[in-house]
Amino acid sequence: MKIPIARTSLTEQERQSVLGPLESGWLVQGSKVREFEEKWSVFSRAPHSVAVTSCTSAMHLSLAALGFGSGDEAIVPAFTWISTANVIEHLGGKVVFCDVNLDTFNIDGSQIADKITSRTKAIMPVHLFGLAADMDPILSLARENNLHVVEDAACGFGAKYHGVHVGNFGDAGCFSFHPRKAITTGEGGMVTTNNPDLAERIGRLRDHGAEMTDLQRHLGARPYLLADHPDAGYNQRMTDLQGALGAAQMDRAQEIVDERRMLAARYNEAFEHLAWLRTPVCREGYDHGYQSYPCLFEPEEISPDSISGINELRNSWMDQLQADGVSTRPATHAVHMLNYYRTKYGIQPQDFPQAHAADQCSISLPLFHGMKEDEQSFVIEKVLEYQP
Ligand SMILES: *Cc1c(COP(=O)(O)O)cnc(C)c1O
Repeated sequence: MKIPIARTSLTEQERQSVLGPLESGWLVQGSKVREFEEKWSVFSRAPHSVAVTSCTSAMHLSLAALGFGSGDEAIVPAFTWISTANVIEHLGGKVVFCDVNLDTFNIDGSQIADKITSRTKAIMPVHLFGLAADMDPILSLARENNLHVVEDAACGFGAKYHGVHVGNFGDAGCFSFHPRKAITTGEGGMVTTNNPDLAERIGRLRDHGAEMTDLQRHLGARPYLLADHPDAGYNQRMTDLQGALGAAQMDRAQEIVDERRMLAARYNEAFEHLAWLRTPVCREGYDHGYQSYPCLFEPEEISPDSISGINELRNSWMDQLQADGVSTRPATHAVHMLNYYRTKYGIQPQDFPQAHAADQCSISLPLFHGMKEDEQSFVIEKVLEYQP
């Protein structure tokens, strides 16, 4: 048996949904994208949803629309996907890393205050792997210091914090529809916000800065006149093929979240007694979306001295699992250790010790909706066979 780290699972109806735009001939952002946005708003209870080409463009447009620019600083966790930091660079800003908590893999709220300077403009908490960041302290700091909050909710589908879906806490929430995420449109993203002016501005910026969309123009009284452009925007529009596929998956959104939680619960139970594998935590007040199943490999206590040995052991375990047919991955990467950031900012791995440890000692096991019971049993069997 071969178990991938993730596998796209689409129903026949979802596959058929892309034929609508192909048959109508309207392929670019139009009514299907609008339908996806509306369904996303209903599911996540976000007042406004704006579909774009990726979570990366969602974050880029959100920061740009909030006026983030040259010389401005934004605080991001050191353990996240690289693009949380890249969008700050793209806008001429400065990335200010903050360490994470090793138990949740999320930003350590108690370390944020020390990073705030007179140039800080935004905090970008990440709801990593479907677990919400601890938002209360972040939101109070943001209020006290007049900072924007842009949530990287790329993995946040189904994730809640005190009963509220992520993406509803900051100025904007940014989601991803890459195939590694729970809902997929190939590539794709969504911005959610409760601020109608921001939604409108992001909607325009994604569409060359035009004051009306192509669809509005085509449906209007004089479709032959071109729109005016109040902004020098970007082209970060989702296609209607993607919108149709996304909208179709939203009809079983809750089912997808429930299935992922069930798979995670089965892993949790199977691995509960393993002292060397720390399974994902989910404390009271949090609903986990399980975009993935990130564990901490801990055959001995993780310390600056033991990390490299544990890392070698983890990698040889990953080799073994791969040979057995079970694909795994490090949960994600520590961005401060990647060449660009390491070099540009002159950072050492130990400067963010928890992110460093997470980078070197984490392992994600296969988890995807559509995973069959015997497939999961196979993964469990292979993990239990291991003796560190
Ligand atoms: C996947 C991911 C992204 C990037 O999403 P794209 O849609 O591929 O741009 C950003 N941040 C995190 C935490 C992610 O997991």
